Amino acid sequence: MSDAPPADPFPIVLATRNVKKGREMAGLIAPPWEPNPRLARLVVLTLDGFPDAPEVEEDADTFAGNARKKASETAQAVGRWVIADDSGLTVDALDGEPGVYSARYAGVHGDDDANNRKLLEALADVPDDRRGAAFVCSLALSDPSGTIVLEAEGACRGRIARQIHGERGFGYDPLFIILEYHKTFGELSTLVKHQLSHRARAFERLRLGLERILANA
Ligand code: IMP
Repeated sequence: MSDAPPADPFPIVLATRNVKKGREMAGLIAPPWEPNPRLARLVVLTLDGFPDAPEVEEDADTFAGNARKKASETAQAVGRWVIADDSGLTVDALDGEPGVYSARYAGVHGDDDANNRKLLEALADVPDDRRGAAFVCSLALSDPSGTIVLEAEGACRGRIARQIHGERGFGYDPLFIILEYHKTFGELSTLVKHQLSHRARAFERLRLGLERILANA
């Protein structure tokens, strides 16, 4: 047993009320398959513990702008370090749509089934070789005063299927084919998604800065 005193816990709040996305984010900050002693002090909290935290309006015109806004306003409301993610799908044949409107593409925020149906309709006449798309994820870390101290972005390319395949993940996952696997994120395991996804890549970049902050905090 070590005689070293236990290090101070370092709580960080995830600024999302989307349970599935929150679960993914929690698994990606310090992935269990890559034990990292430099992140051992991290205690990941969700907004469940902060019922009064306001719903931040995502009205910026970029993923990065929305992530910054969500992180900063949530941090000021809860007085903690906060990580926010803004993410979405950009489809080549739709000039980047639905982009920052991904969550409310069909009108109602978070109606994944309606969003998927609308996407299939929009691409009904588009041939397979022009159905390229990317998931994009922007992350921002705010200190408790609301100052953004870290940002990172990740992207993952794929192709939009002609029908739903699989029930895993969330959002557009059942339509997003990873070409190397000939399968959608709706069919692939969480482990595979966590290796390849836009969010995984963004967190990989954010972690480097996070380690530096923890070393000095
Ligand atoms: P946000 O909560 O504003 O970031 O909404 C992001 C929206 O983009 C979600 O509601 C999904 O429709 C879509 N999205 C983002 N990341 C993913 C993903 O990993 N899989 C599937 N859909 C995603």
